[in-house]
Order: sequence, then C-alpha cells, then structure tokens
Amino acid sequence: MGLNETLAELAGLQKKLYAFQTASSSLYLDATTTAPKDTAEGRGVALGILAGERHDLLTASETGALLDLLWSQKDALDQLHRRQVEELRRERDRLTRIPADEYTRYAMLTNKAGDVWRRAKEQNDFELFRPVLEELVAYNIKFAGYYDSVKAPYDALLDEYERGVDMERLDSFFATLRARIVPLLQAIGEKEPPDDSFLRRHYPVEGQRKLSDHLMQVLGLDRAHCAIGETEHPYTLEFNNKDVRITTHYHEDDVASSMYSVIHEGGHAKYELGISDDVQYTCLAGGVSMGVHESQSRFYENLIGRSLPFIQAIFPKMQELFPEQLGDVTAEQFYRAVNKVQPSLIRTEADELTYCLHTMVRYEIEKQLIGGTLQVKDVPEVWARLYQEYLGVDVPDDRQGCLQDSHWSGGAFGYFPSYALGSAYGAQMLREMERDIDVWGPVSRGDLSQVSEWLREKVHRFGGLLEPADVVKNACGDLDPTVLTDYLERKYRALYGL
Ligand code: ZN
Repeated sequence: MGLNETLAELAGLQKKLYAFQTASSSLYLDATTTAPKDTAEGRGVALGILAGERHDLLTASETGALLDLLWSQKDALDQLHRRQVEELRRERDRLTRIPADEYTRYAMLTNKAGDVWRRAKEQNDFELFRPVLEELVAYNIKFAGYYDSVKAPYDALLDEYERGVDMERLDSFFATLRARIVPLLQAIGEKEPPDDSFLRRHYPVEGQRKLSDHLMQVLGLDRAHCAIGETEHPYTLEFNNKDVRITTHYHEDDVASSMYSVIHEGGHAKYELGISDDVQYTCLAGGVSMGVHESQSRFYENLIGRSLPFIQAIFPKMQELFPEQLGDVTAEQFYRAVNKVQPSLIRTEADELTYCLHTMVRYEIEKQLIGGTLQVKDVPEVWARLYQEYLGVDVPDDRQGCLQDSHWSGGAFGYFPSYALGSAYGAQMLREMERDIDVWGPVSRGDLSQVSEWLREKVHRFGGLLEPADVVKNACGDLDPTVLTDYLERKYRALYGL
C-alpha cells in the first residue's frame, strides 16, 4: 500500500471518529435544550454504544498497525499528517493502558456520580457525595499511573488538560497571583463600593434576547454558522468550524449575567469558527487545550467586554432596549457596576479580580487529594479554611462550598487551573495586540474586526496543529503571571482610586 492510500485510510478513521463525536454532541444538545424531562434513559443507551464504538475503533489492532506504519514514515509526512498521527497515537496509547474492565467501571461511576452530586448539592449533604468522590479520586490516582508512571499523579492529570503544565509551574504561578491580588483586594475592601443596584432592576427576557442578538452581531458571530439557545448552564458546543452553538440563561433580575455569558461563550465560539479548514474532520479540529480555550472566552468577556470603550460602544443600544431600567444610568456607571469587586462564595459569579482565587482553592485541594495528603472527608473543612484565607469569606454550607462545581463528579481533576491560565494568557495576548494594532479606538466604536482578525491569525487558525504551549508562545511568549497582575492592578487601582 502506497503512502497516499495509507493517508486516505487515516482520513477515513478520523471521519468516523468525527461522526461518533457529532452524534454524541447532538444528543447532548438535545438533552439540554428540547428533550422532555424523563427521556435520559434511551439517550444513555445510545451514548454508551457510541462511546464503546469510539473506544473499540481507537484501540483496534488494525488502527494500531495503521498508526505504527505511518509513524515509521513520519519523516515523509507533512506537519498536518505528522501531528494527526502523533495525537492519535497518544490517545490510543492512553486508552490501551487502562484495562478495559476498569474503563467500563469508571464510565459507569462517572455516570452515576453526576446524579449523586446533583442530589447532594440540592440537599446540601456532602456525606451523600463523599463515598463516590472517594472512588473517583482513587480511580484518578490509578489512571494517572497509567498515563505516566514516572510523573507525580497530579502532574500526569494536569498534563491531560494543559500539556506541559505541572505543579512546579502552577505553584509559582499561583503564588505570584496570590501575592499581588490578596493585598489589592484588602485595599479595595476599605473603599466605598460602586452602586450596582440598577443591574438588578426588572429586565424582561424578550429585551435580553434582543441584547444577545446585538452582542453576537458586535462580536462578529455569523448567525448562519453560530446559533444561540437557552439552557440551565451556558455552554459552547462545536460540531465543526462551520457549525457552533452557544447557550445562555436569562435572569430577569440580573441583566449582567446573561450578557457576560453570551460574550464569554461567544469567545469560545469565535475560536472554534476561526480554526482553519484543513484540520476539520481530523483529531486536530477544535481548540487545542482548555487553557487556550478559556483564554479566548475570558479575553472577550473581561478584557474587552468589561472595558470602558466596549461598554461605551454598546450602551446606547442597551438604553434603547431598556429605557426604564437604564435611562438614568451612564456608561461610566455601568462600567463601574460590572467591575464591582466583591469576595464571594460562588466561582461562576465571581468578578474578574477574585476569580483566580476561587480556582486557586480548588487547585490546592485537588493537589492534596491526588497527592494523597488530604482525605475526601476533610475537603469541606479545608475548603472553608482556604476561602477564609484567600477571600476572607465564611462558607455557610457545602452547597455554597465544595459541592458547587460539577467538575469532580465528571472525574475532572486538574481542570480548574485552566481557567486561571486562560486569564493569564489573555492578558499577555492583549499586551501583544496593543503593540501590533490600535485596539481601543475601533472597540469604542463597536468594531471588533481587527481584534478578531489578530486572534484568528495568532491563535484560532491552528486548532491542534501546534502544541498548547507553542500556540501560547507563538501568540504572546512564555507564561508570565505578572502581565495579568500588572493589568489587574492598573485597572482596579484606577477604578477604586487607590
Ligand atoms: Zn468557558
């Protein structure tokens, strides 16, 4: 068989994987949007089979032979195909190291854990979730050994979400953030908080839907390729670079909630839509890592969306949509309100400054859980202690404490640092962007086209063609948390007159 035929087989394999993914994603989209309440069972059967087919296809000996054959000729491959083979081999290797029976039992466990976690959160009962969490931690420690038997277990898990990032780098990264953010937070706490009461006037859903339409237009999201829906928790789901869906959730007593969800998810969507055609239907399609993905969503949400020029650009439209609610408010007041700093209990509602501290709490706990120095039963206590230490808030119960996030119930340990890394990458990208182009003039006129183009050229188009660390380096140099802390200090000192 010649190389071209072998490459055609490689393309066929990846298209099949794409089809399984598309089918699973469609079911997820349906489940979270239009499916009636008691219909999960049938979808569960189909999803189980699709996951099994995917697993069997990747671990099949024919697939191994195909990938080995191509790897033996890697010098003859172009970058696009070499990276495909490299990534597929990595994925296959990872799957084959986990014994099939353990893989199945773990899949059943995470399936069950989601339900148990939801009930535990509803009933504010950590004891209900504890045994499942103990099992999840034990599995992840074991799997970490399969992924990489040399690395410390938590490093092996971190590598799954942001390749190249480990505890050594994160410890110093978070230490830098903490040393600068905690004192800034204390100084802000002594100042008069801005009035943000008008954000909680009554904002009918109909008007908010029109605001979403306007925001998508300003972000340059082509509605022929990106739809918006409504779900309990906002998310972005990508089928390919011509079909991306975002969702939001409207709260009639909080106009900023959906507004910033749309901008955040819109940032994720911009990334997916900006990935080049030549990696579509391959394993290199989609954003390269969670950290880089969050850098894009948080770039639009915070660096652009919570800037004064952006708010000045969209505020006339907001006043037109909500004349009674915002008629007596200025763009400047709105800017101060959406940047109000308030140490709080819930990560997803945190402001831009305190957000990193929320992820830091989770990082510290995961590190110790997977490292074996913290027992699951002690998580609530350590959670409360760290929230007091970092944010100065008392945790009244586990529902608003360690039961608030779904990540652990899905088996995701090592994911949380991606959020903070995303913020840091974003700040570095903004610095580079400001050196290359006039960012704020056009943004103040509601023109984000140059910003989009810069990100597409420097970040989006590659998809998984480059390693995550190389995408970051290529766009804005090596990870440097002081760029983020400098940005935060500048912004919040000015806002609070410090
Ligand atoms: Zn996100």
